[in-house]
Amino acid sequence: MRKNYEDAVTTHPMIVQCMAELLINECKATVLIADSPGGDFTAEVMDAIYNTTGMREVAEKTGAKLNYNFKEKMYDNEAGLYLKKVKVSEFISNVDKIISMPKLKTHSMMTYTGAVKNLFGIIPGITKAEYHLHMSGYDKFADALIDICLLAKPTLTIMDAIVSMDGNGPSAGNKKNTNTILASADPFTLDKVCCDLIGFPFDIVPTVAKSIERNLCKLNSDDVEIKGEINVNLKPFEMPDSISDVFLKTDQFDGKYVDENIKAKPVCDQSKCVKCLVCKQSCPAKAISFVNNQITIDTDKCIRCYCCQELCPFKAIKIRRSYLLRALLKDHEW
Ligand code: SF4
Ligand code: SF4
Repeated sequence: MRKNYEDAVTTHPMIVQCMAELLINECKATVLIADSPGGDFTAEVMDAIYNTTGMREVAEKTGAKLNYNFKEKMYDNEAGLYLKKVKVSEFISNVDKIISMPKLKTHSMMTYTGAVKNLFGIIPGITKAEYHLHMSGYDKFADALIDICLLAKPTLTIMDAIVSMDGNGPSAGNKKNTNTILASADPFTLDKVCCDLIGFPFDIVPTVAKSIERNLCKLNSDDVEIKGEINVNLKPFEMPDSISDVFLKTDQFDGKYVDENIKAKPVCDQSKCVKCLVCKQSCPAKAISFVNNQITIDTDKCIRCYCCQELCPFKAIKIRRSYLLRALLKDHEW
């Protein structure tokens, strides 16, 4: 996303710079910095993103290259359980190894985004919307993310948790100083460890719950060897307002009554909205319309992916809980 690194939405360029220097100077490697945003994936969009996130400066200082290959390609995914074929950005064909560098953040749809979900960045631009639409339940989407991660097979994942984000992440939450870097060759276990550290039970983080179910990571933290400073405790970490949906598994219920009265729903704060229509263009379910000079959201069509909240540059999309939902959750601090 086109965000200044100081907003803690994107990985801090200093961490990318250190990694690039190490790879280029010590390993004599050629480094390609690549990612694909939600929305259009073009040279114009990426120029703006590289400039604002600080990645262009990293490339200039280190000699790393920035990706300008926007082609997509269908890959066979033998390791995948559900996605046996995945449409992916072609840039992954041009590298021997992938080092994934996520930021530690909450996520309105998936509770938490980290090592596994970061690899959704190899899915090109608006193709991400197809995955949201066709795998719209939390569990299904978690399985899709795991399959994509298995295809990408990152050699190493380095988690930027120096300044993290809690609350309504991945872009509308609160910055949080957590002063930590975590790294692992195993993205599934890294996510489980991060969730333990921030105090999120694994069963409300669908990617972690599914990784455990698929025997990709261990349930018991005592079975995980942590090297380095282990006395880190990143709590309290505020959950996103939409957590009720994952907790109550409301994605398993359809119908107007459930959509209107039980599920959390995105609403537009008209006072903050600048009518840029980014949300409308990026809604996979075509649930957003612009009528009478106002953004309106059809909750019947909405699949609760919260891409609108994530991609709104002005934090104008809020999550609203119904009265009934608030009553059902009254015994939970979130
Ligand atoms: S993306 Fe945000 S600011 Fe732009 S139209 Fe949608 S709600 Fe309004
Ligand atoms: S309105 Fe927002 S949450 Fe609903 S489907 Fe569209 S992008 Fe997703």
